[in-house]
Amino acid sequence: MPKRKKKEIEEEIGFVTTLSVPSEGSVGLTGSWRIFIPVLDEGRCNKCLLCWIYCPEACITKDIVINYDYCKGCGICAEECPSKAIAMRKEEKNETG
Ligand code: SF4
Ligand code: SF4
Repeated sequence: MPKRKKKEIEEEIGFVTTLSVPSEGSVGLTGSWRIFIPVLDEGRCNKCLLCWIYCPEACITKDIVINYDYCKGCGICAEECPSKAIAMRKEEKNETG
């Protein structure tokens, strides 16, 4: 197929731009080696978002939902939580999928 010049396309549709939408990738998936998982006690959580800020894997949402597919079980979120709303617990085999 002949390559069309950018100018031709711009004349036809008005503009040319790239569109990049971020999405989850397979590179950061944790696999089966994790030993501990963070467990949230919603009743204690004051939504300060410190866990969201400090999680090195960016796997906690602003609604304080932990994505266990990417969580490495490092425990930083539990360390940083001022309300002790996150406890680290040994993960049972295949517990989180
Ligand atoms: S244990 Fe580590 S990787 Fe998992 S949610 Fe907490 S800070 Fe993020
Ligand atoms: S750090 Fe603790 S209190 Fe703050 S949002 Fe996270 S779980 Fe809730």
